[in-house]
Amino acid sequence: MKVSTMNVANIQSRDLKVNWHPCMQMKDFELIPPLTIQSAQQEWLIDPSGQRYVDATSSWWCKSLGHGHPRLKAALTQQMESFEHVLYANTTYEVIVELSERLVNLMPHFSRVLYASDGSCAVEMAVKMSLQSQAIRGRAQRTGLAALSGGYHGETILAMALSDCPLYTRPFEAVLPEVHIIPNIPYVHDLSEPLALDASQAWAQALKTLTPLSDTLACIIFEPIVQGAGGIRFYSPDFLKRLCEWAQTQGIDVIADEIMTGFGRTGRMFASEYAEIKPDFMCLGKGLTAGMLPMSAVLTTPQQYEYFYDTYASGRAFLHSHTHTGNALCAAVALETLKIMEDEQVLKGMGTLSAQLKEGLTHIASETGVLSHLRVLGGVAAAALNLPGERVGFKLGGLARHHGVLLRPLGNTIYWMPPLTISQPGVQALTEGTLNAIHQLMQSHEKIA
Ligand code: PMP
Repeated sequence: MKVSTMNVANIQSRDLKVNWHPCMQMKDFELIPPLTIQSAQQEWLIDPSGQRYVDATSSWWCKSLGHGHPRLKAALTQQMESFEHVLYANTTYEVIVELSERLVNLMPHFSRVLYASDGSCAVEMAVKMSLQSQAIRGRAQRTGLAALSGGYHGETILAMALSDCPLYTRPFEAVLPEVHIIPNIPYVHDLSEPLALDASQAWAQALKTLTPLSDTLACIIFEPIVQGAGGIRFYSPDFLKRLCEWAQTQGIDVIADEIMTGFGRTGRMFASEYAEIKPDFMCLGKGLTAGMLPMSAVLTTPQQYEYFYDTYASGRAFLHSHTHTGNALCAAVALETLKIMEDEQVLKGMGTLSAQLKEGLTHIASETGVLSHLRVLGGVAAAALNLPGERVGFKLGGLARHHGVLLRPLGNTIYWMPPLTISQPGVQALTEGTLNAIHQLMQSHEKIA
């Protein structure tokens, strides 16, 4: 069904009368109205006039297999035929059993899976489990929390406290629990850089922060190798390896937040693999259902499970639940996602995707001369946009729409995280659209100057 331009304007104005969009200054819609979506296919978003836009960030990093995957739609429909949702506390069903079996097999030192809906909830669960497990182990003094500088872990109060993103957390500082931030993370642009391979000096610095906390920390959380909302930054796998070895030797739990990096985004199934670490807890979300439905999970080890396993009277049960924990529609889609990743050998295609993204970004940099700090890992590509003026990234996002790309720069960082299955023409459209938008932005600067 075609919708006229007038209708689109009508939808937009009705939207802006009733809706409050996530992570937006609503006044910005006076400049750039929300994009009206009619349909979406693979890497393409389609508006009512039939105009196509590349989903450059795979809809907040979750649409790993693109939009409208026929097998995911079929799995959803099939599950709907039997049942949609039954409280998961006292029940079970085969789909979720197979899903969990497959998830723990992806990193075999894990043996247990707890489910939630959003990534932030998975982070909350992992931290709560660590705190309770430390208490169960009789380490009452271990209540401290630590995280990396530049990290991001979500939007609920505890997840925000663990995030070093003042832009998001500043208004709430007064109520955020204390978290120790590990400073001076050794950032790199490429995992073959010397610093990526040997971070001994940065580690010696980090130890100065950590050593006084060694008896009081319950856990340390991090996004392995790639920090997302903090600026799409890569850091040394050697640093992460040292951090985890140190923490686990001290009895501090290690929580890998793979919500953004998991399920192939960085070219491996999990970014933790780059550092060869074995976290005590791993948080998953986004790509777990290939972004079709909201589902998150925490994976943990037999040892952690044992700490909690006791009589009810011992008070050791982990009494945490969300209404949609273990939702059957989500589970069916998540299970099918894992099967598709295997059948379509998505990880095998990551080398090609990575090379294409790198070529595209390098081309833009040489054509425009305004990009620096280029970095590509798996299906993540980012660069700094060096143009004078206020909010150039925001302006670029607005202009990119006219060139067939839905882009959402983070400040002056422009980045692509398209579906891992994006086609070659899709990457080409992404490259050309981004290039043209930057050219247009540069011309508008010249006019002002
Ligand atoms: N951790 C990381 C690393 C994330 O990137 C995000 C979301 N961008 C979250 C946690 C929070 O997930 P959600 O938005 O699903 O709550």
